[in-house]
Amino acid sequence: MRQSLIAESYYQATAKLSDAYPALAGDVACDAVVVGGGFTGLSAALELAEAGLSVVVLEAGRIGAGASGRNGGQICTGFSPGQARLETQVSKSDAQKCFALAEEAKVLIESRIARHKIDCALTWGYLHCIPKPTQMDMLREWAEEYAALGYAGCTVLDKQALQAKLGSTLYHGAMREPRAGHFHTLDYLAGLAAAATRAGARIHENSRVLEVDTGSAPFARTAAGKVTAKFMVIGGNAYLGKTVPALSGRVMPVTSYIITTEPLGEARAKSLIMDNEAVADSNFIVDYFRRTPDHRLLFGGRASYSTLEPSDLGAYMRPRMLKVFPQLADVKIDHAWGGYIAITSNRIPDCGRLSATTYYAHGYSGQGVALAQMYGKLMAEAIRGTAERFDLLARFRHLPFPGGPIRTPLLAAAMLYYRIKDALS
Ligand SMILES: Cc1cc2nc3c(=O)[nH]c(=O)nc-3n(C[C@H](O)[C@H](O)[C@H](O)COP(=O)(O)OP(=O)(O)OC[C@H]3O[C@@H](n4cnc5c(N)ncnc54)[C@H](O)[C@@H]3O)c2cc1C
Repeated sequence: MRQSLIAESYYQATAKLSDAYPALAGDVACDAVVVGGGFTGLSAALELAEAGLSVVVLEAGRIGAGASGRNGGQICTGFSPGQARLETQVSKSDAQKCFALAEEAKVLIESRIARHKIDCALTWGYLHCIPKPTQMDMLREWAEEYAALGYAGCTVLDKQALQAKLGSTLYHGAMREPRAGHFHTLDYLAGLAAAATRAGARIHENSRVLEVDTGSAPFARTAAGKVTAKFMVIGGNAYLGKTVPALSGRVMPVTSYIITTEPLGEARAKSLIMDNEAVADSNFIVDYFRRTPDHRLLFGGRASYSTLEPSDLGAYMRPRMLKVFPQLADVKIDHAWGGYIAITSNRIPDCGRLSATTYYAHGYSGQGVALAQMYGKLMAEAIRGTAERFDLLARFRHLPFPGGPIRTPLLAAAMLYYRIKDALS
């Protein structure tokens, strides 16, 4: 196990809620068994439980042990590869419907926070910064594309305007989104788990599913028990490994890293990102950062397709942070951790049915904080008999990743290609 994947994250160190859920013991029956306690699984569980179904969630570790408890906390717009990629497989109007679902995911987050009183520091505002002056037209086209899709209010900032908002001279402009932002991902997820429990779902932590049967009476078995159900939802994402062989080649786990600084004090934190937006650059291999409520800088980026891990993750990430904010040279790194992103071959999330009873969704390709919750909701919607919206998303086709010894080198080569492309473009 990579050290970064078990290192305590900023979120774990500062979480407000840490309800513990008992491990599964013995055999139970229910309407729906959910594998995975991340955004996909818990969103489905909450919707199904609220609809009156009996639900059991099986989570291998603690709630949020996967990507949902360890990510950048950035609530993003649309799909990771953009609308044009969606339109290679579905009509323009269906791609627009997909965009609308991604927009609805933001409203879902907002309404869950309000309805379930989840204290998670939700903050709207997002800056997409360009490392090259030649990219200004791209920003204008981007804002126009969003406006044409019904997402109004995105504005383009030139270098001077950006510098009034960001304490960095690295970037040449930005597109500002009013309806993307950030939150404390683990506080939100814990709130979602608590809401699902209040709605009647039974959550079992430390209950790794070792075997599933996806037939007409599906079941999930752990070392200590078995859950038999009418329906199964699989939300194990990059952490599922080979537990469900039919899914294992459909996504590739990629490690991504994050650091947080020591607390900087309000004024210094504010001097970095004046209006507390989430920020990302427009490179393929993205750097992203934001302030935290306790006035740190949270900085994420780099991705590793290889099995090697830097021995000192903080030292590995620090130069990237200092490239953006050289004024932080005197600052200590308090937390450094990583997590698995599940990518698909075309970066479009992958969802579908393994049988009439068993649904899955995964592969948000680094942009799943909002989307995973929508996919979870739509699986619940389909189980309850309205599958139109889920079936739209299930229409996307994906090439499986190669297995065996060439899997990792092939992806490492692809990554190198994109690093060079970022440097040259
Ligand atoms: C470092 C990092 C930064 C990221 N930053 C962002 C960001 O800023 N914005 C954004 O939109 N997206 C981001 N992402 C992606 C986003 O976090 C994910 O797309 C999203 O959380 C996926 O949710 P999920 O529920 O599908 O998967 P996960 O959260 O990974 O949940 C899967 C769960 O299933 C459990 N599980 C797996 N196998 C089994 C089994 N056999 N039995 C029982 N349980 C099992 C795991 O323990 C895990 O808890 C980031 C990801 C990482 C790793």
